[in-house]
Amino acid sequence: MQEFTKFPTKTGRRSLSRSISQSSTDSYSSAASYTDSSDDEVSPREKQQTNSKGSTNFCVKNIKQAEFGRREIEIAEQDMSALISLRKRAQGEKPLAGAKIVGCTHITAQTAVLIETLCALGAQCRWSACNIYSTQNEVAAALAEAGVAVFAWKGESEDDFWWCIDRCVNMDGWQANMILDDGGDLTHWVYKKYPNVFKKIRGIVEESVTGVHRLYQLSKAGKLCVPAMNVNDSVTKQKFDNLYCCRESILDGLKRTTDVMFGGKQVVVCGYGEVGKGCCAALKALGAIVYITEIDPICALQACMDGFRVVKLNEVIRQVDVVITCTGNKNVVTREHLDRMKNSCIVCNMGHSNTEIDVTSLRTPELTWERVRSQVDHVIWPDGKRVVLLAEGRLLNLSCSTVPTFVLSITATTQALALIELYNAPEGRYKQDVYLLPKKMDEYVASLHLPSFDAHLTELTDDQAKYLGLNKNGPFKPNYYRY
Ligand code: NAD
Repeated sequence: MQEFTKFPTKTGRRSLSRSISQSSTDSYSSAASYTDSSDDEVSPREKQQTNSKGSTNFCVKNIKQAEFGRREIEIAEQDMSALISLRKRAQGEKPLAGAKIVGCTHITAQTAVLIETLCALGAQCRWSACNIYSTQNEVAAALAEAGVAVFAWKGESEDDFWWCIDRCVNMDGWQANMILDDGGDLTHWVYKKYPNVFKKIRGIVEESVTGVHRLYQLSKAGKLCVPAMNVNDSVTKQKFDNLYCCRESILDGLKRTTDVMFGGKQVVVCGYGEVGKGCCAALKALGAIVYITEIDPICALQACMDGFRVVKLNEVIRQVDVVITCTGNKNVVTREHLDRMKNSCIVCNMGHSNTEIDVTSLRTPELTWERVRSQVDHVIWPDGKRVVLLAEGRLLNLSCSTVPTFVLSITATTQALALIELYNAPEGRYKQDVYLLPKKMDEYVASLHLPSFDAHLTELTDDQAKYLGLNKNGPFKPNYYRY
């Protein structure tokens, strides 16, 4: 418990408050939902709802939206063929037969495809949302209609949030034996309230940077009592979610909020890691003039070799049209920088938390804030200069655009395989520690996605395999390989 509450936030310590949904900003869900929390003022907790089979074992906004939600799930399935093929391949053997999974993730059409895959592989699931805003109500309704015990709606209060988690864990006659978490709040709740549940838990699968960090802290303190799988650092998560997801969604987030044209615009991107590389590739392709700031000479050299100018933010801040942060650091864009920006400069963040741009420094009496659109603020200086601040410095793509279903399919397949691995591992393979998904499974996740592209993989000949010292079926790279 102490390990969990120790985690720092932008306010110094990590609060468990859901008001800013901090814990899950490093995993992604579709921001789109066709319903909102204002369509019915009665709290779902006050309503008695029944699905068409007579079950009341769920709590969602409105079960009547199930048909609409089902269509959303079917649309997501179109681009998640790897998960569907995993469903088909493993259907006979049901590798999750007997698994009782308690889950806490975003509840969107894409995660619904994951949850229904786990059910198809034999698991029983009880699910809550890891973020109070990201639940697609109609999707939660469709899951409840299909028999999944789901407790989630968009716009939960903090109390609702913990109540939903509690309803998933605390159920007479049902005890979880696996945890799938995104952000660590579910794991925290079980540690705090129901430590005995861990006697039956075979493993925890955690997806987010934050949750993984907390697991490592528990492990270091000798308090982790079951094996845990760090999905966040598997290659198929990091290289795809961070790089390709951002390459695809940066322009979408900027266009939807500002209608900006990129050709010829001067953009500075702070941080040339995976996220920065993705953003820069997209901006360059549309003809933007891109500058990079970096602290790491290796990433700076990569930026140079990719054809970008590496500068200090101060050198270009007066001339750029757009500033994008993606460092995972804090105070990268300070009030001093904001003061020097030109009129109409757009400022946004693609990093994990809202610490990269010093937004608090803009809350001073001489500056006027004007909300011009949802997620778009004009901050106006006394001389009339306006800076366009997007999503109040929170993750742009999570707040203002959708993220590609295909990328989520890769992450979801990794999660499913991690659950299968931990659930079926022989006694003793995994101890009370945090593990990465075995390389071979990472490769398997990738191979399941290749048919979508009609990609044809070359097979090693016996002779070649011997020459390279590899097994013909993988793994093809050592663990230290960087891709
Ligand atoms: P990374 O570590 O690969 O890259 C961050 C880069 O920023 C590093 O190269 C580092 O040297 C550089 N950096 C640090 N401080 C800096 C500073 N003051 N000025 C300039 N450069 C600085 O990490 P990543 O995978 O690119 O992720 C970056 C952030 O984006 C993280 O917070 C991560 O959680 C988040 N993220 C966002 C999305 C999304 O969809 N928006 C997806 C994945 C990750």
